[in-house]
Amino acid sequence: MKGTKSRKNGCTCPFHLFQIVVIVYFFVNISLFGVFWIPGFTSITALMVVGITIYGGLSILQMIIYIILSCVDHTDRYIKLKRSHPEEFDRYQKAKTLNYCQVCLTNVSKHAKHCKRCNKCVNNFDHHCKAINNCVAGKYYGLFIFFIIISILTSLFQIAMIILDYSCLNFFVRNNFKKNFKTDLYDIALCLLTFNVLTNALALMYLFYLLIFHFYLMANGMTTYEYILSRKNKIETEKVF
Ligand SMILES: [Zn+2]
Ligand SMILES: [Zn+2]
Repeated sequence: MKGTKSRKNGCTCPFHLFQIVVIVYFFVNISLFGVFWIPGFTSITALMVVGITIYGGLSILQMIIYIILSCVDHTDRYIKLKRSHPEEFDRYQKAKTLNYCQVCLTNVSKHAKHCKRCNKCVNNFDHHCKAINNCVAGKYYGLFIFFIIISILTSLFQIAMIILDYSCLNFFVRNNFKKNFKTDLYDIALCLLTFNVLTNALALMYLFYLLIFHFYLMANGMTTYEYILSRKNKIETEKVF
């Protein structure tokens, strides 16, 4: 392999800044939810039980999918085979139509693409996602779309719970927080909740954009990589003419 070492998955260095921002965002969301809602167990209502159960379920599902998407190793199967069983790889090389990668310096699957950020060939490559700092490829593309949908629902729910609490129930701000923590942090609490609503609103805009973009790609039978390539070709053609 030419140059730097290949990255195994999203947990391999170097980490991406956007990946760190997303992890902090998860942590802040769950922490704020825990701090503001869990103390309410002292005077729990049926609505809260439903709210906490749905939010908890969505957050856990979101985390599990994020971990799966981050940890999966998309290295092309022939590169893996060459490392683990070189003789078997030689047999496959002769029998199958494989492509040669100038960077990996080996034969790889016919539909594999070389990811520059991971520095390895990935079969059925769609794109490299900065949020998970890993490639999205093959059957994991569906899981990636599902992750976007779950993230949209989680953010919508988080905003709805805060607005409902603040405008209708006044559960946290006026009663529970003061009662449980014996402190007067009303202003700080309001700032944190407003900040949380704003960050979730920003995340929602980005997530909706992503979902619409991927629905457009699916409707046109394209991968993200093919779309980027077609855009580049279009720009270069426009430059020539
Ligand atoms: Zn390669
Ligand atoms: Zn990659």
